[in-house]
Amino acid sequence: MADFMKAMEFVKSNEGMHISSDMPQSDEIVLCSNCFLDEGLKLESLKIGLNLDSLCPNCHTNDGRKLSKVLTLILAKRFFVEGTRRKGKFGINPIIEFNQYQYKKSDINFQEWIKNDVKLIAEVVKIGFFHYGPRLWMLGQIEPLKSLVSKEKRKSVVEQIIRTYPKRILSLNETFYRLRKNPKNPSMFYEFDSPPNPGGGRLDSDGLSIMYASQDMEVCVHECRATIEDDLYVATLSPEKELKLIDLTELIEEENVNEFNSMDLAMQMLFFAKDHSYEISRHMSFIIKEAGYDGIIYPSYFSMVRTGANPFETIMGLSIRRFKHLKEQIKSQTIQNIALFGKPIQEKIVKVKCINRVILKQVLYDLQFGTIV
Ligand SMILES: [Zn+2]
Repeated sequence: MADFMKAMEFVKSNEGMHISSDMPQSDEIVLCSNCFLDEGLKLESLKIGLNLDSLCPNCHTNDGRKLSKVLTLILAKRFFVEGTRRKGKFGINPIIEFNQYQYKKSDINFQEWIKNDVKLIAEVVKIGFFHYGPRLWMLGQIEPLKSLVSKEKRKSVVEQIIRTYPKRILSLNETFYRLRKNPKNPSMFYEFDSPPNPGGGRLDSDGLSIMYASQDMEVCVHECRATIEDDLYVATLSPEKELKLIDLTELIEEENVNEFNSMDLAMQMLFFAKDHSYEISRHMSFIIKEAGYDGIIYPSYFSMVRTGANPFETIMGLSIRRFKHLKEQIKSQTIQNIALFGKPIQEKIVKVKCINRVILKQVLYDLQFGTIV
């Protein structure tokens, strides 16, 4: 059991990282990529398996990528846990989990073709898979988020957000990007100002125009839902005066707080939710504007695709965002978007430095596979 915990610690500490040849290889080889029938499982093991010229102790072939016990646990985590994550109304959680206590007690009826693969994995590392009942905070049962959903309580929570989150000044020498698809007159600066009919986005609404921008060019492409069919142009922008923004991407330190009353997790869940949450974020941007800010820095919905990281990752059921030593790593997983109130180009608070065409030359996908249940 101590070995299992140690191995799982290693698996957790390698979360989201690519397995490289410098990981510990001392533990015994137990399986290989040829052992599996499920194609996704085979492809995942080809990614992490070791290239060793030896016979697999299970299937006795020598050309498969070899899996040690630790690598088999990593494979199980990726394929069965990460591979079954679903996005709820708020938050993300896996459908399947595993541990050593459920060994030989699995309650999942897997598809016929994968049953033997599952049995192999469960036997060599002595684990059992089970239907995961997430802790309720993972489904958005977080007090500040519930208060934001409530129209009566929303204003006072946003005022608390304004008091809690840091101010960030966007200075005159900083630049950021705004991408447009298929503009009529791509050389005209006004094409890159806030859209003429606000109300369709995360933070804009009737009576409040927003210019969306980012310092990360690839996120602009995602945010615009651009495809190779589109004619794309990007404006490089820079402030004409210092801009005062509230930074909602900061990982705030919360004392005496757990997942169920964390403002930080509430913010993450709000910005990673789909358009059913827009009513809340639009109201929030009104209140922030009234408080004298020029705009908002907020986490991009596409941070996950851009960095490959899951903001709702947990260690033993606790959010990783609560572990102080992981702060820098977690911050680097959030891509910042910029939302500026009004029509900043027309109002001359932002200037267009230049405009370029953007060509989507090659799109790279990083695919991960999971099981169906
Ligand atoms: Zn094998």
